[in-house]
Amino acid sequence: MLTPRQQHCLNAIGVSAWQLRPAPEAATLPGQAESVARAESALAVPVQSATAEPVAKPDTAGVRSFELNDWTHTLQAIEVCENCDLARTCTRKVPGKGFQQADLMIIGEAPGHDEDIQGQPFVGRAGTLLDKMLAAIGLGEDSVYITNILKCRPPGNRDPHVDEIQACAPFLQAQIRLVQPKVILSVGRISAQNLLQQHSPLGKLRLQQHVLPGSEIPLLVTYHPAYLLRTPSEKARSWQDLKALHRLLHQ
Ligand code: URA
Repeated sequence: MLTPRQQHCLNAIGVSAWQLRPAPEAATLPGQAESVARAESALAVPVQSATAEPVAKPDTAGVRSFELNDWTHTLQAIEVCENCDLARTCTRKVPGKGFQQADLMIIGEAPGHDEDIQGQPFVGRAGTLLDKMLAAIGLGEDSVYITNILKCRPPGNRDPHVDEIQACAPFLQAQIRLVQPKVILSVGRISAQNLLQQHSPLGKLRLQQHVLPGSEIPLLVTYHPAYLLRTPSEKARSWQDLKALHRLLHQ
């Protein structure tokens, strides 16, 4: 049964009341055991796209390494990083925002136009929808940490390149180590495929409880809010994902 506040939030994200019947438990998180068994090292090799050729491990010669043992050093290192060309084309670095000891860490793809200008992740239209989605399960910005696979905007919002993901991976790894989240929510295909090191389409990756490779952190996958803005008919499915996330956070 939804509280009036949840109902209000759902209306705000465009999920109609008739779509809210609880899904059968078994259909909510199939494939759980299979995903839990995976134990590859996190973000070891970037996955570029569902159709990409197998990628060679990029040559990291010339990539400057940083001490990333605490927040101060990690944020400074992101600020001064020039390990890929995006540092030259972006307006501002976008490290992350929110509560640094949050139970929930949300990982998107890369900053867009608004994020690039403001230096904060998910502040554009997609960010507004993400805020509403989180509010629908009782979460505010002060109870999550939000970041992206990339800390710099790719020109024209193109998909991230393999070398860019590789150059940024140590920062994301450090952020995950520092936050120590109870759960990770991966939003969108690029985030999910790279975090899970899988080429499966997003539709196959959601509705399963994964584990971040190389860790014991449970990871759920959902649609990117920008995709939901373009395809509002999928909002009902994203509500299923949010309910699974809510259950996992409160286990
Ligand atoms: N899309 C993302 O994946 N991240 C942002 O920060 C903004 C839009």
